[in-house]
Amino acid sequence: MATKYLFFTGGVVSSVGKGVTAAAVGRLLKNRGFHVAVQKLDPYINVDPGTMSPYQHGEVYVLDDGAETDLDLGHYERFIDIRLNKVCNVTTGQVYAEVIGKERRGDYLGGTIQVIPHITNEIKRRIAAVAKTTGAEIVLVEVGGTVGDIESLPFLEAIRQIRTDLGRENTLSIHVTWLPYIGATAELKTKPTQHSVRELRSIGISPDMIVARSDYPIDDSLRDKIAQFCDVDKRAVIPMVTTPVLYEVPLLLEQAGVGDYLVQRLGLEARQKPDWSEWKQMVEEVRKDKPAVKVGLVGKYVELHDAYMSVREALKHAALHLGVEVDIHWIHSAEVEKGKHWDTIKSMDGIVVPGGFGSRGIEGKIQAAHYARTHQVPYLGLCLGMQLMVVEFGREALQSDEVNSTEFDRSTPYPVIDLMPEQHEITDMGGTMRLGLYPCKLIPDTIAGRAYAQPMVEERHRHRFELNNTYRGLLEERGMVFSGVSPDNRLVEIAEIAGHPFMLGTQFHPEFLSRPNRPHPLFTAFIQAVCQRAGIPTRASVTTAPQSVEVEN
Ligand code: GLN
Repeated sequence: MATKYLFFTGGVVSSVGKGVTAAAVGRLLKNRGFHVAVQKLDPYINVDPGTMSPYQHGEVYVLDDGAETDLDLGHYERFIDIRLNKVCNVTTGQVYAEVIGKERRGDYLGGTIQVIPHITNEIKRRIAAVAKTTGAEIVLVEVGGTVGDIESLPFLEAIRQIRTDLGRENTLSIHVTWLPYIGATAELKTKPTQHSVRELRSIGISPDMIVARSDYPIDDSLRDKIAQFCDVDKRAVIPMVTTPVLYEVPLLLEQAGVGDYLVQRLGLEARQKPDWSEWKQMVEEVRKDKPAVKVGLVGKYVELHDAYMSVREALKHAALHLGVEVDIHWIHSAEVEKGKHWDTIKSMDGIVVPGGFGSRGIEGKIQAAHYARTHQVPYLGLCLGMQLMVVEFGREALQSDEVNSTEFDRSTPYPVIDLMPEQHEITDMGGTMRLGLYPCKLIPDTIAGRAYAQPMVEERHRHRFELNNTYRGLLEERGMVFSGVSPDNRLVEIAEIAGHPFMLGTQFHPEFLSRPNRPHPLFTAFIQAVCQRAGIPTRASVTTAPQSVEVEN
């Protein structure tokens, strides 16, 4: 069959859940037996979000192939349970870099390089690359930002052309908008949606479906009105009221008839009747009252929870699986080192120190790790969180406060964490870390070995520093266990503290491979230890190894 395309645009305001909507629609189609992939087009000029502060765009999500991408890719992978690749996130910066590179090489000799057709052609080439590299039959493409932004115009023009090239039965446009609520008259307003649709039309794209987001119920007359004023089939006006349960969105869209409607409009027939039993059970489980455990997340970007999106989701997946609720307490590491939040830290059932860069708040994280180690509090360190756990332990082992990572103290006499040798010559900051999937060999009879219950795994990485092998023997002698190493034993991938109920750090980011239906084994083991500390019985844990590396798409 010809590749089918669904284009998602946003209207009225940003942050209306366009990414989640696209991810959920992907799930509807996957449940009907179609092979889907999702691509995000980001209008900013950075080549990727890897060099941006998480305060700007939330977490940087890492794929198998090491692409540093927008956090929406995390929604796609979690909701649809697929593994995407680097062509699935395109930025304006990438497109321009490619075109300008070609121009300098002389590929267009004699030509004047313009937005149309050179930039738009490059965008079209990248959209086509998704089906080529993933084999997807239906490609969902989400355009970042809101219709009306100057930045996204070339993307929309490329989409307009693709719709003309491939025909309406192969390309549908889904516009996700917001209905504001006016308190004084107690009504929802459709006017901004009408304006946004008009704007989209003026670019040459007529929406085939409108997903109307709102904090309040949307009645039938309002749907009629949107259908009429925006010239969209009433069946294709989909009310989407805010739900506290993110994973309920696919069920709501299914109930609203989105799956059947889209399949029909694409001229397809579902290959199977969608089976939602497992998903429904998961959502019911989320809604149930469950005993709660408290986990403190000690990080430097805690004001913006999106900066730790995958960590939060991975904690929730594991807790859900064990039949408990996880209350995440967001603890600012830079304030911890000033003596704040200690009452909170002391009342936690578990502590997570996530990934990060730069020295702000580092000592606060080390102090939190020290507390966890000396008070038998379960601790999970992710990348930087693992490195700081090693620094903390090293300070004790070497009896010196000068023990550090050279990232924070270049001249420390005891660099227990140091730049990886292959990083020494690197001067460019963008896309040059050790990125993506690398194998990790597990050592039996360790916490990690038992949690994974398999000898070898592959996990996603994003780091420049590593445990300095010079100190390995000493740390091991003092009770540090290296439970995961690279197959050549050169790089420590997982460290644990012997005799502690659960103090474990990973050089990789297990959070990127956690799925709502398949929590990550290390997160499950962590939450299990947290429950034990809190005295809360859990449902027996089943080992849930991450999906095999064979890229499903
Ligand atoms: N800054 C550390 C490094 O580069 C940790 C990175 C991370 O936490 N992702 O190795």
